[in-house]
Amino acid sequence: MTHYAMPDRKSWEKEWKEVSGHALVAVNSATSLDGLETLRLEYLGRKGRLTSLLKDLKDFDLGDRRELGGPSNAFKEELSAAIDAKKAELEGAAQDAAIAGTKLDLTLPGLAPAEGRLHPLTLVMREMTGILSRMGFSWAEGPHVETDHYNFESLNFPPNHPARDMQDTFYVDAGSGVPGSILLRPQTSPVQIRRMEAQRPPLRIMAPGRVFRHEAVDASHGAVFHQIEGLYVDKGVTMADLKGTLLVFIQSLFGPKAQMRFRPSFFPFTEPSAEVDMQCILCEGSGCPACKRTGWMEVLGAGMVHPNVFKGVDYDPEVWSGFAFGMGVERIAMLKLGITDLRLFYQNDLRFLEQFK
Ligand SMILES: [Zn+2]
Repeated sequence: MTHYAMPDRKSWEKEWKEVSGHALVAVNSATSLDGLETLRLEYLGRKGRLTSLLKDLKDFDLGDRRELGGPSNAFKEELSAAIDAKKAELEGAAQDAAIAGTKLDLTLPGLAPAEGRLHPLTLVMREMTGILSRMGFSWAEGPHVETDHYNFESLNFPPNHPARDMQDTFYVDAGSGVPGSILLRPQTSPVQIRRMEAQRPPLRIMAPGRVFRHEAVDASHGAVFHQIEGLYVDKGVTMADLKGTLLVFIQSLFGPKAQMRFRPSFFPFTEPSAEVDMQCILCEGSGCPACKRTGWMEVLGAGMVHPNVFKGVDYDPEVWSGFAFGMGVERIAMLKLGITDLRLFYQNDLRFLEQFK
């Protein structure tokens, strides 16, 4: 950047002639934004040539200042406007060039959105509730946090029953195991009681939901899992109705060849009670490691509703009879999907989850 030496009128006019003669031409022929910025600094920067000329006018007498100041200030305005216009022109051209350089290939495949899917437990649970729903069972739900009354007392658990022990049940309050305690429900059965309290018979309900057990987690046990409970109350309901209902349910779920057997068992809220086994779907009854060589697998518990349970909800056991059954959703899902470790359901590993639709 050149600077004329002395602020005398003669050298000022020489520099002015240079600046006014070349600046506009240079700006208008600029071909790049960088080049234009260099010119702006050369003429209009803090120490630019035109800036210096205008600054030096203060050293001249009033007559000179008036004579020279008018045109040079007007020129400054003109040069600024020319730089702005040129800048807009060059920016527009740069944008056009960028757009022209982008080739749009309409044959490229689009970006596929990530596809979500239902959890395998949800899929199996929906299939199970769908079968029951077609047999006339309606959906019922209850709270996860229950009272001792709904979970034990009204289900005919004696006060000293081992299931009340802290080994199995998560108690929320300090008074664990005594009447009036608050707990996380270890079974979906309390929903039966809540529903029977709210509705006069006949009724036919299914209660799917989450349950909680104080258990060590391993390949076949979880501290949190799901159950589906079924309850049917009417006049003249028998064990044959229970067996027929469960056979239709199991064959709908596992195919028409599925076989089932009842084994005598005990639950406080049913009498008589039965464990229900299904013929092993892997070996079809001939015996394999999965069924411990017995040919059978336990799938659910069931029985006829105990008269004491009916009395507690003000149903006359001389008039009404009914059956109840409960099963673990994870257990059924493992058999149906061929999964050998229950923990896989809860690890959120996409490689596992993506296998099920
Ligand atoms: Zn087997």
